[in-house]
Amino acid sequence: MTDCEDLIKDFALIHDGDRILKTGVWSDLKKDFSGKVTDMGDVTIVPGLINSHIHLELSHLKDKTVEGQGFTSWVKSLLSNPLYELEEKAICCALQFMLENGTVFCADISTRNCAQIASIMDNSGIGFYAFCEAIGLHTPSAKSKFFPNKKFRNGHTAGAGHSLYSTSPELLQAVKNADNDAGMPFSIHLAENVEEDEIIAHGTGEFAAMLKRAGMLADCGNKGLTPVEYADSITLLDETTLAIHCVKISEKDIQILADRKVNVCLCPRSNKYIGEGRAPWEKIISSGINTCLGTDSIASNYDLNMWNELEYLLKNIEKPISGHKALSLVTSNSAKALKIDELYGSLEEGKKAVFATVPAHLEDLLF
Ligand SMILES: [Zn+2]
Repeated sequence: MTDCEDLIKDFALIHDGDRILKTGVWSDLKKDFSGKVTDMGDVTIVPGLINSHIHLELSHLKDKTVEGQGFTSWVKSLLSNPLYELEEKAICCALQFMLENGTVFCADISTRNCAQIASIMDNSGIGFYAFCEAIGLHTPSAKSKFFPNKKFRNGHTAGAGHSLYSTSPELLQAVKNADNDAGMPFSIHLAENVEEDEIIAHGTGEFAAMLKRAGMLADCGNKGLTPVEYADSITLLDETTLAIHCVKISEKDIQILADRKVNVCLCPRSNKYIGEGRAPWEKIISSGINTCLGTDSIASNYDLNMWNELEYLLKNIEKPISGHKALSLVTSNSAKALKIDELYGSLEEGKKAVFATVPAHLEDLLF
């Protein structure tokens, strides 16, 4: 499948080790081809998968956090672990696992080790964004830099905001502006849970008190708004924004996200793991919002396999979607959201010669 829409039998892809030179039916293409041939066997080839939200710096935390007890308990258990040392081996293993399972690009969020993780990703061969995450209550100066301006073979650095409640509106806006200037997307966790809802609307709740005690609660409204309404009021929402989670959103919020052409990244299994319910997938997808999927970190998931993320969504969605629509959540929609569709998201001439094969057990579910 070149674009996850039409199934091409006897499909062949000719590449030069980096880019796609030609695609088509092998019985035609082979007449003029004399290079090395790899027969993939009886499989369905699709564009390489894109993981639109992950935190590789937490790769050493598999099974180290509580499951199903809500966000406040999850954060407490996360913070009880060693978080500040970068465990390179765990990150390399995570990247290897993702590559072996069809993921060819990831959008990584890092709070402390952005440049180092970018180098590790670059060496692994995966395509990437290394988002340096801004968190804190300060107002940045005009000279502040939010991400290193360093060139990599397979990716870029960019800026992300942690969340509305942990990061000052001035800092979030400055990071977004820096991304705009650099032509990069802006990523932010948005409307992830009921705690965030309460903080943005009223500034109250156990999680708000915990943040306040730690001196980490941003002045984030307290005007009865929803997180989406508040994010909109501080001009964070537009077509270069990738809003992660969007679990607690109303129909009005969905309309705002659609009107602003915001891209939404759902993390279904992470939301389940933490125990905060799930996003209104059906309404988000049918609203026309450009929607994609991410695993989030291994500290809030069972594995980093994008096929498993998609399978979970397809098995639990109430309004079934077509195989084409399902695959676009992990390929073309993600490429569009991350502004990498010149190179990723479909198998076309000139794009990266990276593809995935559909696991046999998912063939029936997708086609
Ligand atoms: Zn996250």
